[in-house]
Amino acid sequence: MRDRLYLSAPHMGGEEMEYIRQAFEDNWIAPLGPHVEAFERECAAHAGVRAALALSSGTAAVFLAANLLGIKPGDTFFCSSLTFAATVAPLVQAGAVPVFIDSEPGSWNISPSALSDAFADARASGVMPGAVIIVNLYGQSCDMDEILPICREHGVPVIEDAAESLGARYKGRETGSFGDFAFYSFNGNKIITTSGGGMLLSDDGDAIARARFLATQARDKAPWYQHSELGYNFRMSNILAGIGRAQLKLLPDRVTRRRAIFERYRDALKKNPGLAFMPEPEWSLSNRWLTTMTIDPDTAGTTNMRIMEALEAENVESRPVWKPMHLQPVFEGAKYYPHEGRDISAGLFENGVCLPSGSGMTDGDQEFVIELLERELG
Ligand SMILES: *Cc1c(COP(=O)(O)O)cnc(C)c1O
Repeated sequence: MRDRLYLSAPHMGGEEMEYIRQAFEDNWIAPLGPHVEAFERECAAHAGVRAALALSSGTAAVFLAANLLGIKPGDTFFCSSLTFAATVAPLVQAGAVPVFIDSEPGSWNISPSALSDAFADARASGVMPGAVIIVNLYGQSCDMDEILPICREHGVPVIEDAAESLGARYKGRETGSFGDFAFYSFNGNKIITTSGGGMLLSDDGDAIARARFLATQARDKAPWYQHSELGYNFRMSNILAGIGRAQLKLLPDRVTRRRAIFERYRDALKKNPGLAFMPEPEWSLSNRWLTTMTIDPDTAGTTNMRIMEALEAENVESRPVWKPMHLQPVFEGAKYYPHEGRDISAGLFENGVCLPSGSGMTDGDQEFVIELLERELG
């Protein structure tokens, strides 16, 4: 049996060890240190925002954003349904109630028309959401010029989940720069990784300063440990920030490689009926974090589940598209706004599959996956 081929394995460049060695040499093993500060500066510069805060995970960034926006028990919030649970969980754990919004077919991201429907109902009922969380899924930006004015018109702040979209752009501008708060993730399967970590981003330097205070146990300025409020232990370590600095330098290469992998799959498979790859609107430059496609069982002669089974039998990892939040048992009964009367995200889940897309994958690896797909489709 061949070695397991993963969906998106970590891909080190080599220089990471140099940064780690430096941290060891200076004995900056202690949590914070120069790599952390430099990594924050470099990520803020990359996104083109004023301030950034390095954290232990992307999920930690959501906790902090919820806190900074004053989300409290009983508040509602709007959130893209087609996403990973970590987008939503911190707000729900803070006692807020989710209202889920469908995707639009052109980008798979939050539907402007469904969002407008949700706002119209909120206005009518007099209960406005505390925040809107938009998600740049699989490395593709949302349609910001459609979505942000709707949120602004209603005076509701936006959290931009850019966990999967580091390096992706909207009309030439980096994702992670659009929300009142945005965040990246450096989890092991993302486009670059620190083995685990996240980055909270904002143009509001005071808010990031407050997030920094909350993320380091909310210690008052006093000679002893004194607390007027409670915080978290959410910071990224100096060692991991060193890995992140080396990885960030590689980001342009990683985007190019992932896009090439996407194009190779598409070119090799496009002759097969019933396949549709995740579209890329003209305003989007996706990082193609994962190559995703849908399979129409009526015309393709197979299903997404059969494709996944065929790949698994050869030790190749693949996944369905995210199961939307409005279909999750934990959110049973939650309010949901479909896109123009159709449930787009449910359809993407039902027929979608994510293919191995790691930038460290060889051409031979990809050829093997394509052969397995051809066999199943043919
Ligand atoms: C990975 C991911 C997160 C969470 O990031 P972690 O660093 O793993 O906590 C949040 N949202 C989306 C869409 C993700 O893919």
